[in-house]
Amino acid sequence: MEKIIYMDNAATTSTGKAALDAMIPVLEKDYGNPSSLHQLGQQAADLLADARKRVAACIGAQPDEIYFTSGGTESDNWAITQLALAGAAKGKKHIISTAFEHHAVLHTLKRLEKEGFTVTLLDVHQDGIVRVDELKAAIRPDTCLVTVMYANNEIGTIQPIAEIGAVCREHGIPFHTDAVQAVGHLPIDVQKQNIDLLSMSAHKFHGPKGIGALYCRRGIRLTNFIEGGAQERNRRGGTENLPAICGMAAALEDACAGMEERSKRIAAMRDRIIDEVVQNIPYVRVNGDRQKRLPGNVNICFEGIEGESLLLRLDLEGICASSGSACTSGSLDPSHVLLAIGLPKEIAHGSLRLTLDEENTEEDVDHLLNVLPGIVSGLREMSPVWEEMMKENN
Ligand SMILES: *Cc1c(COP(=O)(O)O)cnc(C)c1O
Repeated sequence: MEKIIYMDNAATTSTGKAALDAMIPVLEKDYGNPSSLHQLGQQAADLLADARKRVAACIGAQPDEIYFTSGGTESDNWAITQLALAGAAKGKKHIISTAFEHHAVLHTLKRLEKEGFTVTLLDVHQDGIVRVDELKAAIRPDTCLVTVMYANNEIGTIQPIAEIGAVCREHGIPFHTDAVQAVGHLPIDVQKQNIDLLSMSAHKFHGPKGIGALYCRRGIRLTNFIEGGAQERNRRGGTENLPAICGMAAALEDACAGMEERSKRIAAMRDRIIDEVVQNIPYVRVNGDRQKRLPGNVNICFEGIEGESLLLRLDLEGICASSGSACTSGSLDPSHVLLAIGLPKEIAHGSLRLTLDEENTEEDVDHLLNVLPGIVSGLREMSPVWEEMMKENN
């Protein structure tokens, strides 16, 4: 097959050169356990401390506010479960979140509901954005946690994080954000944005898979989620994955350096795709706010066709895309995110998500735009749903 055009960066990214260059020497020679007192252990401990400092600096945090985890899912589970438990200990069992969170958040909340917590899911409206006044109205005396994602993984919409954080601070409620799609892609400052806890994952910014971090502001009592040794300031047991941690720090620094320029170039490709699709293909719908969205995110519904068949055709053209998120593909349910922004089920089924990054080129976009209209009209010709639609319109 010809060249692979990878446009599924919200599912995962390639391992970048910065990460590889940082990891290989650690894998080869720095095999000491950071908890060991001998020189090899101390060398590893130094690398760990250095990586922690660098990750913290990229989001405006202090090193002792960073806890390394196995990724975004664990960070979300940790933050939400442990803050819920802390709330329950004070008789507070109400949590506020949104209807379009990642399943790492939604399923954790479901479990807490079974354990007697009440969860209010804020509406994300047609544009995929939470309203701060609706958050204010949802706060109760027994609210123990607010968790709102920074940027959505399917439709790319960016939430008013600093304002949400300010409201939470005013009410003395801890604020957690799943920033897995935002870290390394948008400028983040946990101080200025009033963020108390934040989840990140290295494989979403060209770092290795299976490593992430939870930022937890000093003064917020975070109890243990994984019991074990004294690693991560006694909070998260288990020998540190040092090669991955070093790879993550290098990838994050690389992603944050030159972010503005890179984002501009990626956003220009994004806008070109959206504009041309809207212009050249009838019965399409762009999902999520056009401005407040991640630079690389395109999410479009094509009426009358199935997202899955579209993906298979694109794959034959060497284009890797996604319909909904990687976690929901494989199931026949329409995306909960598209339902949350009010799309009817039959339209939500025909969604295409393209997530670009700096490795994509204008030639990739040319190829996509060359093949897409033909694929869509071909699939529509075979679609009974489309035939029905056309009859109704005539
Ligand atoms: C990918 C993703 C996660 C899960 O992160 P892992 O490191 O794969 O566990 C959580 N939340 C969002 C928004 C994501 O995009």
